[in-house]
Amino acid sequence: MQIFRKKTILSVLTGLIIALLLFVMLPQQARATSGAQDTVGIRVVVIDPGHGGENNGDESTSQFEKYRTMITAQAMYEELSKYEGVQVYLTRTEDVDMSLKERAQFANSVNADMVLSIHYNASLEHEVYGAEIWIPSAVPLNAPMYQFGRLWIDQMGAMGVHLRGIKSRIGQAGDYYGIIRESAAFGIPAVILEHCHLDTARDLKFADTEEKMRAFGVADATAVAQYYGLKSTVLGVDYSATQLVPVNTYELAMYPINNSTVPERCDLSIVSQDEETGEVTFRIDAEDSEEALQYYDYSLDGGATYCGIEMWPGYQLYKTINTDSVTFSVTLPREVDTHFVARVYNGYDQKTESEKLTIHFAYQDEMRAAALEWEKEHEAGEMQQAETPAAEEADDITLQASEGVMLEEVIGGPEAQMPGGSVEQAEVTSPVPLRTILALISVGLAVTIVVMGISLFRKNRSGK
Ligand SMILES: [Zn+2]
Repeated sequence: MQIFRKKTILSVLTGLIIALLLFVMLPQQARATSGAQDTVGIRVVVIDPGHGGENNGDESTSQFEKYRTMITAQAMYEELSKYEGVQVYLTRTEDVDMSLKERAQFANSVNADMVLSIHYNASLEHEVYGAEIWIPSAVPLNAPMYQFGRLWIDQMGAMGVHLRGIKSRIGQAGDYYGIIRESAAFGIPAVILEHCHLDTARDLKFADTEEKMRAFGVADATAVAQYYGLKSTVLGVDYSATQLVPVNTYELAMYPINNSTVPERCDLSIVSQDEETGEVTFRIDAEDSEEALQYYDYSLDGGATYCGIEMWPGYQLYKTINTDSVTFSVTLPREVDTHFVARVYNGYDQKTESEKLTIHFAYQDEMRAAALEWEKEHEAGEMQQAETPAAEEADDITLQASEGVMLEEVIGGPEAQMPGGSVEQAEVTSPVPLRTILALISVGLAVTIVVMGISLFRKNRSGK
């Protein structure tokens, strides 16, 4: 009887634990779904933390992208939930694999008005930086998402991140990016929010703490609240008067959100060069007929390696045509020729390289000329001196001079210095007279004979 009761209690407890575990493990989406579908006048927003499970996303930092997107998405979820008239969902709350199709299907299942896929960026060459938003490429979804993009970009700008723009990319079957394409299949507009680049120090500083990654989420939520004109009593804000940028298909066609061509022109020239300091001022004249130029960089080794990219001065996100120039100074080594090359980038990271410019300092020529001058002067001087003893000797000296041997030392003159280098002291030798040598040999022989005699004498005495 007691065993039976114990068993019952045990099984009830086990059931309870399993139920609790299931509840905890179930994604937030499932719990939040009930009753939202048919609510009139309520905006349904789906937040999608990018990547998950086997798919780590960017791995350039020890905190993989999939963890970062979750932090930002959770913060966005919490912030947007503070507004009235909006129902918010997350596609995943756990570190699990989820296909882009599944994410779009989930959005469709809750009648989403919009999908926001949360991401952090990285580039192949780990050079570019800034925030960008990818929107649907086709009507009718592109126009409203362009309007949202303008609000989101302003939020990123307020945080100090460089703004790379509102873009779309066409693939083989509609939009190139899966979440946008799969959502569009259900008629749902989706955007990809690339907050900043994790693989550049310049951008990582915007996402190096959990607090900062959460701040991105709050900014994302604010952009959505502005877009839908939401109010929040808790936050004490009212965005109902927000004006969206007027946009029509004509304007969208004008705005190059599908640019895939390189800038047409990148001309490099030298404005000035300082022989004293080695500072050279360059000018790049460049042009992209489709959009604003975004960055430039340069190489001192003919294009083998490049310095980090710099922002194109006066870069304006919504400026459509750009013919402009940039002037900048670089201090170059004066002792060797530099092969200088510059590149310009447009908003799609398409780049055009300039012609190579070889920078040669007159300083080097002066150095060479001074050395030659020195040699000539001394050559002339020695010839004058040598003329008196013998013509033959003068010829020898001339020969040595042309081989770069220091003449002052050979003839025992004062210490001389070549421009740009010191001269080693040559050893001065005087001949040893033959008589001295002979005398030394004789003394040596005499000593040997005496030593041999003494030893013979000692041997005889002890041998007896
Ligand atoms: Zn990503």
